[in-house]
Amino acid sequence: MENYIVSARKYRPSTFISVVGQRSLTQTLKNAIQSNKLAHAYLFCGPRGVGKTTCARIFAKSINCSNPTPEGEACNSCESCQSFNEGRSYNIHELDAASNNSVEDIRQLIDQVRIPPQLGKYKVFIIDEVHMLSPAAFNAFLKTLEEPPQHALFILATTEKHKILPTILSRCQIYDFQRISISDTVEHLKYVAESEGIAYEEEALSVIAQKSDGGMRDALSVFDQMSAYSGGNITYKSVVANLNLLDYDYYFRLTDAFIEGNVSGALMIFDEILRNGFEAQYFISGLSNHLRDLLVCKDPVTLPLLEVGESVSKKYAEQAAKCSNDFLYRAIDISSTCDFNYKVSSNKRLLVELSLIKISQLNQKKKSDQVEELYWWEEYKLESIALPNTSLSETPKQPQIKAEASVLPNRTSQIKVNKAEEVKIRPITNNFKAPAKQVATISILQSQKPEVQELSKEQSVEECSNRFTLEQLRRAWLEYAATIPTETILVSTMKSCSIELKDNYKFRVQVTNADQHQRLKDRRDSLLPYLRKVLNNSYIDMEVVELAPVARKTIFSPLDKLNYMVGKNPNIVTLYKEFDLEIM
Ligand SMILES: [Zn+2]
Repeated sequence: MENYIVSARKYRPSTFISVVGQRSLTQTLKNAIQSNKLAHAYLFCGPRGVGKTTCARIFAKSINCSNPTPEGEACNSCESCQSFNEGRSYNIHELDAASNNSVEDIRQLIDQVRIPPQLGKYKVFIIDEVHMLSPAAFNAFLKTLEEPPQHALFILATTEKHKILPTILSRCQIYDFQRISISDTVEHLKYVAESEGIAYEEEALSVIAQKSDGGMRDALSVFDQMSAYSGGNITYKSVVANLNLLDYDYYFRLTDAFIEGNVSGALMIFDEILRNGFEAQYFISGLSNHLRDLLVCKDPVTLPLLEVGESVSKKYAEQAAKCSNDFLYRAIDISSTCDFNYKVSSNKRLLVELSLIKISQLNQKKKSDQVEELYWWEEYKLESIALPNTSLSETPKQPQIKAEASVLPNRTSQIKVNKAEEVKIRPITNNFKAPAKQVATISILQSQKPEVQELSKEQSVEECSNRFTLEQLRRAWLEYAATIPTETILVSTMKSCSIELKDNYKFRVQVTNADQHQRLKDRRDSLLPYLRKVLNNSYIDMEVVELAPVARKTIFSPLDKLNYMVGKNPNIVTLYKEFDLEIM
């Protein structure tokens, strides 16, 4: 036991090449040494435990080495290197500003700066946590930093760059240290484990790496703790149990329940997690991460973002294959909203449970008609619209049949056609086949037989041509939609499409796809009579055009915007219902 050295110290890198996860930065430092272009002050910034002090020490050793390698590394064998390695070099001074932040501490350091080195070329002063220096100490230090002697070199290290005064920043070469990636950390832990003869499961090391959040020092200290706890065999189960982490397994099981739409299963897993002593918020943020990991598995481009061991990444890939992107987007949305609202919720357990229920229902909803899902809340709105007095069972009177015959009625002089031709040009009846041809027929009819003014039999039936506004048409249109509540797709099409009024009581409906087109066409024979009756105009006719979705995007009614928002966040529906909102 007396010889035990913690891994973070024992495996502290002694050369630039052995520093983990800071490749480009160490290369820059080596280049500076090789080309002999050294600044007088450096600022090393970055999170704790990523190698700032280690790099500072290697740097100090390398610039004092009497026999550096061609790569710019210290030789580790000359007198200077040995004194560094044994911790007895006078050329390196370390000050921890976290505990020595007074003016007096800085003055003592400055005194040291004046004395030239006995051995080697440089005296290196490392000030750790430099942002902790008191303002007076900063000022005392500034003068020395401005005009240091030739042999002095300062390396300032900080985890909080934003707290460093601009006057200091402008005098330093700044190096930003990155968090060490999980795979780099795992590689290094493997190396340490193998050197120490410790058995391990790769998954276990991966969990330790994740837990250490990019800091190698933390990773190694957890590693030491785990190897002591597990008696030299670090397993995934032992790490998860000892660090009190939530097992991946819970999330895999939970997601399976989501996929199956198994609400009770999901709630029971959550209950199990709570009974095992885990915080609900910890659980929900873990769920978001799990769903996010599944999402990155869906695309080979984002796959490298999945930072887990090989065996688990296979499990992720398998589960991701069972989830649609849409499901994952929505599930992540729900779980992160839950996470966000957790702190302010008065019934936290219910909040989480509600979110689990919502996610469990995502796939179920998808199985039913997707359009229905997007617009179901509109049905709610619909109930409040008063139905018109006229009902569909009351079949409209005959005149509209005549109106259909005169496809292009002219308000001043209507074209009268005889019976024989009437059959040909009746586009609205079931015989309707090729509209283009029929239009052609009509034009022939108009040009060749303008003299046909003969009154047909139907002409005697009463005709009306009441004027109406687009608003009135729209109202009648929606009223008609309200009479066919079971045809949800058509209803939602009717509500979302745009209508414009053309000449001669004709109106144009814009839809976005062939299906909508067909549905409207199929309804034509009951829709047009209805509109004609309600608006008291026998000449009302409808033209349906398909617009490319892109073109349609530019037409934004308030309803369109709301639908769009609902698509983005289904919770808006809840908001809409809860507060009894109106669409403006
Ligand atoms: Zn050396």
